Amino acid sequence: MTEKVGIMGGTFDPIHYGHLLAAEECRRQLRLDCAVFVPTGEPPHKKEKTITSPEDRYAMTLLATAGVREFSVSRTEIDRGRPSHTVDTLEEFLEESASARELFFITGLDALLSIDTWKDYMRLPSLCTLVTATRPGYSVRGVELLPPEIRTALKLIEIPQFAISSTEIRERVREGRSIRFLVPRLVENYIECRGLYRRLSGGPVKERSD
Ligand code: ATP
Ligand code: MG
Repeated sequence: MTEKVGIMGGTFDPIHYGHLLAAEECRRQLRLDCAVFVPTGEPPHKKEKTITSPEDRYAMTLLATAGVREFSVSRTEIDRGRPSHTVDTLEEFLEESASARELFFITGLDALLSIDTWKDYMRLPSLCTLVTATRPGYSVRGVELLPPEIRTALKLIEIPQFAISSTEIRERVREGRSIRFLVPRLVENYIECRGLYRRLSGGPVKERSD
C-alpha cells in the first residue's frame, strides 16, 4: 500500500505549537499516515540574525515530537552539508524509500506565498501535493496570484489560527518574558538550559526561502 507522508520543512528556531498544530491538522484532514519534520541545515541565508545551530534546532524538534507516534524528524537537510532546497529533499524522500510513497509538502500560507522564489519550484507539483495551512496575518487571496500549475497542485487547509512565530518566541526569551504554552515543555526547558535566544548575536545572514 502506498504510504501517504507529510513533510514539513522549517528552520524551527525554535519549533512551536503553531508548527505542530499545522502538521497535525493537515495530517488528519488529508488522512496522512505520518508527518516528518525536516529542520533546515546551515542556512545559506537568513536575514538579520544568526540562526541557532542545526544540532540545537534538531534537538528541540526531536523533543517536541517525542512520543507522538505519527511524527518523526529527519536529519537529511542538516546532514547535507550544502545549501538545501525543497525539490532535492523531496526527491531524496522518494528515491530512498523502499516502499511506495506519496508525498505531501506542508507549509504555512506565508511560505507558500513566496514559493516562486524557491529553486525549481515548478517541479514541485510533479513530486508532491502542496499542502498549505492558513496562518494569521496572511490572506488566502494571495494564492490567486500564484501560477495555475501551483494552484492546481495545492490543498489549502484551514486550521485553528495560532498567531505565534519563532521570531516572537525568540523576542520573548530575549526580553525575559514567558514562552510557556507556546512551545512544548521540553523545548522550553531546553531553551532555558542551553541559554538560547538570550541575546542577539552575529551579523546579518540572508534568509533561506525554501
Ligand atoms: P520565523 O519567525 O523564524 O520565520 P516561523 O514561526 O515562521 O519562524 P518557520 O520555521 O519559518 O517558523 O516555519 C516553518 C513552516 O511552518 C513554514 O511553512 C511556516 O509557514 C509554518 N508555520 C510557522 N508558524 C505557523 C503558524 N503559527 N501557523 C501555521 N503555519 C505556521
Ligand atoms: Mg518563517
